[in-house]
Amino acid sequence: MQHGTRRRLAMLSAQKSGAQAFLATHGPDVRYLSGFTGSNGAVALVGGRAALFTDGRYTTQAKAEAKGMRIHVDKGSAAARAAAWIAARGIAACAYDASHTTVPEFEVLRKAIPGKLRRKFFVPANGLVAKLREIKDADELAIMRRAAALGCRLFDGVLQHIVPGATEVQVAAHLEFQARLAGVDAMSFETIAASGERSALPHGRATRTKLPKRGFLTLDFGVVLDGYCSDMTRTVHIGKASQQEWDVYHSVLEAQQAAVAVVRPGITCGDVDEAARSVLRKAKLEKAFSHSTGHGVGLEIHEGPRVAAKQQQVLEPGMVITIEPGAYLPGKFGVRIEDMVRVTARGGEVLTAASPKVWIEL
Ligand code: ZN
Ligand code: ZN
Repeated sequence: MQHGTRRRLAMLSAQKSGAQAFLATHGPDVRYLSGFTGSNGAVALVGGRAALFTDGRYTTQAKAEAKGMRIHVDKGSAAARAAAWIAARGIAACAYDASHTTVPEFEVLRKAIPGKLRRKFFVPANGLVAKLREIKDADELAIMRRAAALGCRLFDGVLQHIVPGATEVQVAAHLEFQARLAGVDAMSFETIAASGERSALPHGRATRTKLPKRGFLTLDFGVVLDGYCSDMTRTVHIGKASQQEWDVYHSVLEAQQAAVAVVRPGITCGDVDEAARSVLRKAKLEKAFSHSTGHGVGLEIHEGPRVAAKQQQVLEPGMVITIEPGAYLPGKFGVRIEDMVRVTARGGEVLTAASPKVWIEL
């Protein structure tokens, strides 16, 4: 989708909230609306007019990335200059994303406009662009497909480095080195490599801990490719497993597959969560599943929709969510399995299907 189309859609929803202008300052939103990837950027929309504000470090980059947009380069806060530009166009109410504006940032915005406007000018429109971003268009999906497929290849490639005595950091380093060679912008987040007892930590960042002779290793990682994040988790077992390890793994796998199976337009996020949770409940692992089932993913690693208990938001075609139930037994071990799933017209398509979820014993 053209950036211009996205800006028109953003303007339309700002108008629905009673504003005649919209100010985007959150980095991923600015990128979504303009293509600009620099750090100090703001997009101002007034009716059919749009302008990008940034500073002198980004003159060349802004012209290359935000094609066809009016670009204003000057010193200081891009957001403040954008607000002043909107106010100067005789606008009475401007929507902005309060959920991504700190109190000091808001003060800067307020001071940028004439005193007589300050009381009513800024209208909070939380998550206005975030809402648009939940539905991925064909161009975005093509990138996310590549990012997810690369994640799968990286996982396959790192298996050979999972040997007793290697450290978690070494495993993560092999994976990240190959990701860099493959041309990623960055990793989506700090790679999680949690082995042995540490696999019971849902967010066990890679440490210098050595992989055990017998035990699980949970790898949760993602790459950023052309701005879009991938996210996947696989748990493998080193050495021979106990019956309990085998059972918990297969309960989590069953829960994960049950949630993937119910993905379709019209179902609520809460129902997807419940599909996974009910399997773990039956396996008496409900308390061991201590987080929500998943989240939307895109320009940001965590975005809408939230796939959590009782969430009433309905899945729509074009959304990309993760499904990542887990079970964590403190002091013993933990298991998590995560795929990226695209909501299609009729169901769901697993984007990380190239990496098998079957039991892997190394
Ligand atoms: Zn993950
Ligand atoms: Zn995730």
